[in-house]
Amino acid sequence: MSEYVASLMAEVKAKNPAQPEFHQAVEEVAESLSLVLEQHPEYRKAKVLERILEPERVLMFRVSWLDDQGDVQVNRGFRIEMNSAIGPYKGGLRFHPSVNLGILKFLAFEQVFKNSLTTLPMGGGKGGSDFDPKGKSDNEVMRFCQSFMTELQRHIGGNTDVPAGDIGVGGREIGFMFGQYKRIRNEFVGVLTGKGLNWGGSLIRPEATGYGAVYFAAEMLKTRGETFKGKTCLVSGSGNVAQYTVEKLLALGGKPVTLSDSSGYIHDPDGITTEKLAFVMELKNVRRGRIKEYIEKYPGATYTAMDRSLDHNPLWNHEAQAAFPSATQNEINEKDAENLLKNGVYVVSEGANMPSTPDAVNMFVEHKILYGPGKAANAGGVAVSGLEMAQNSMRYGWSREEVDQKLQNIMASIHTSCVEAAEKYGTPGNYVNGANIAGFLKVADSMMDQGVV
Ligand code: NAP
Repeated sequence: MSEYVASLMAEVKAKNPAQPEFHQAVEEVAESLSLVLEQHPEYRKAKVLERILEPERVLMFRVSWLDDQGDVQVNRGFRIEMNSAIGPYKGGLRFHPSVNLGILKFLAFEQVFKNSLTTLPMGGGKGGSDFDPKGKSDNEVMRFCQSFMTELQRHIGGNTDVPAGDIGVGGREIGFMFGQYKRIRNEFVGVLTGKGLNWGGSLIRPEATGYGAVYFAAEMLKTRGETFKGKTCLVSGSGNVAQYTVEKLLALGGKPVTLSDSSGYIHDPDGITTEKLAFVMELKNVRRGRIKEYIEKYPGATYTAMDRSLDHNPLWNHEAQAAFPSATQNEINEKDAENLLKNGVYVVSEGANMPSTPDAVNMFVEHKILYGPGKAANAGGVAVSGLEMAQNSMRYGWSREEVDQKLQNIMASIHTSCVEAAEKYGTPGNYVNGANIAGFLKVADSMMDQGVV
């Protein structure tokens, strides 16, 4: 660690105590950027990175609502407006009991670089609540979303801050929040993305993150003259990102064999087919059940319950060539990375945000596998959100083929930016440095143009 990064991190830790995920995200970026900052003292003089670390605005608010028994429930709502140098704040809302300020700051910080990589004019933000949608009725989810939006609507807008979905926030939640925004503000604008197709949504938005992670991996494979044909793939999660990762892998000839939720994972050695995926989509999106039910329907598969006392996750300990972590942060630790490498995995494309711990990342980089970090690999979701905003502004909608083509072009362009930046700064093939550097430069130059604000 350079002296500059060490002193920056000491300050970040002192100023932001008890936010380990935020520290982790900043340290990774700072390490990559030390290569750039050495060659460009003007960024250091203007304290560009120091400014990017400090959110432009942090909103924290009470969300009270009544459950089905008529009892009062109290949650905490957040919105981190991190950086608006290249466009309105943009980033998802996460509803999960683990949500806290540090987790949302790490996500908002990563979002700044990711959005910059997409080539679209979007700043970075993130938000959410410690509300747990699991086990809640539709009416409870609606009352919560309405209460949450009653406060959030003061702070967002089509030209200011445009939230989207993330863990626990899908089409249902976006619908309830959009309805409440429209009711209070009396305006129909593209203030949220991930909207329903009948009311301003974009084709391919639900698919975009998963499809994009697979397109990014396909680009990485292309550098070795390979495709997905016949490759066995490990996928974690079973939500939005995981489902469409599996769908695109099947379309490109891959063989996905695992899916998980927070209770455990399934391994299907025969492969998760289109028909089996349709079952998972119905199970997760309509019945809101657990992945364990998969083995009742498909007895050729096995289910392994999550065991938090283990030092590794057995999902990552199966023979395969590619891995798509698509659940949550820090789901691959050093031991898991070791298991992946041992079992033949040489392509990792991160659908989730920061799913690999720093030790795991180092191991992938040292072994020179094709490792696509989340900022680059899962940027397809926010990219199509950007395309949804463009369509809303035009009051027009592109066809499925048009949006999918634009998504493919964007993922290819992100891949090229990463490769070129990594090469230019002396670390060819290192997508971590490539993504951090390419994402940083556009934001940094914009901040330099806009003066000390
Ligand atoms: P989702 O539809 O809510 O699905 C999340 C999945 O991950 C579920 O299967 C969930 O299981 C599992 N999961 C969540 N927290 C977990 C934990 N602590 N331990 C184990 N499993 C856990 O969310 P999503 O939109 O697919 O998001 C997944 C990841 O992709 C997140 O890291 C998110 O930030 C990232 N991402 C999403 C988008 C997007 O467009 N949606 C874009 C970029 C990045 P349970 O149901 O049991 O909780």
